[in-house]
Amino acid sequence: MMASKQPATRWAWVEIDRGALRRNVRAFKALLGPRQKMCCVVKADAYGHGAVECARVMHSMGVDMFAVATVSEGAELREAGISAPILMLSEPPISAIPELIAHEIMPSVYTTEFALAYGECAVQAGTVGKYHLAIETGMNRIGVHYTEALEFMRGIDFHRGIECDGVFTHFATADDPDGWDYKLQCRRFDEAVAALRDAGLSCGTVHCDNTPATILDASTHYDMVRVGVGLYGLQPCDATRPRISLEPVMSVRARVTRTAHPAMGEGVGYGFTYRVPRTAVQICTLPLGYADGLSRTLSNRMEVLYRGERVRQVGNICMDQCMVAIHATPIHPIPEAEYGDTMTIIGRDGHEEITMDEMAELRGTINYEVACNFGMRLEKVYL
Ligand SMILES: *Cc1c(COP(=O)(O)O)cnc(C)c1O
Repeated sequence: MMASKQPATRWAWVEIDRGALRRNVRAFKALLGPRQKMCCVVKADAYGHGAVECARVMHSMGVDMFAVATVSEGAELREAGISAPILMLSEPPISAIPELIAHEIMPSVYTTEFALAYGECAVQAGTVGKYHLAIETGMNRIGVHYTEALEFMRGIDFHRGIECDGVFTHFATADDPDGWDYKLQCRRFDEAVAALRDAGLSCGTVHCDNTPATILDASTHYDMVRVGVGLYGLQPCDATRPRISLEPVMSVRARVTRTAHPAMGEGVGYGFTYRVPRTAVQICTLPLGYADGLSRTLSNRMEVLYRGERVRQVGNICMDQCMVAIHATPIHPIPEAEYGDTMTIIGRDGHEEITMDEMAELRGTINYEVACNFGMRLEKVYL
């Protein structure tokens, strides 16, 4: 049943099920060989799930590395005492280098200017700056073009202040590992890695798989996989569903802060996009809105769970609040809500469930974005 742990100051919150997170980590570890490492992607506050708390759980399970998107995300983990290697998945500006070195955050590297500046700064600090070489193989986002990887490395490898700890690329179409685009990226990556090795350069940890590639194609696990969304119990695409069983980690709940029975014809919310259609409609207010990740595009289109039943959200979703309508009918006599009753925006209640996927579909986006959005302002409680 629903957990009783709640924040003291607000009747809307995100629940994080650490048991589910552990089981998902285990499910991914089971896909890997004994020598293959796991890098847990905890960027964007662990996809909204809380990076520090999630990283602690993952760390306790012996994962090998964490990946973040920004310097401050890496610094947050360090300040919380996370000691595992941290990889930043892009190259920050040169002005960020002192912070990288102070917190031992490995940047991805793909410009010579950055690499040499990183080396200089590391020498001055009396250390060696580890980095991962990002190789561009087709996504056209970041990295050194695969045909230029060797030349690039020759241009920086002399520097005693830096050390290549890994080489990686990123797939654009990992949901379709039988497709030509994916296979081409694989071939280009293999080619670049082989060129580096043939020239006697050390590649360190070679890695390319995100969640879908990790699940769908064991042949590209190489030395390490970078798993993100799957750890949080979200399927990255339909193809992975039959291949791995994952448990959603995040639920979103709120308690009713007001109930009322406006007269038939009364409007609800900004612009009166909903009008009470008949008598005996109960309007309940929930204290979360679009600033909490409940996108305004869902207005009048989404449902929430109340006592294991679906009830409709009505009126435009406000920044910090939204309303739902309960109408009992003779054939469906759902009881009315009371002040303080809990409703479920994402998650299970009884036999019903509203998934991130359902909400993503309604919003015209992916579950990744829905989870990130709910993490932005709502307080998290860890079960
Ligand atoms: C976000 C990201 C990942 C993780 O992707 P998921 O699909 O969430 O597993 C892996 N590698 C890079 C470079 C990324 O940016």
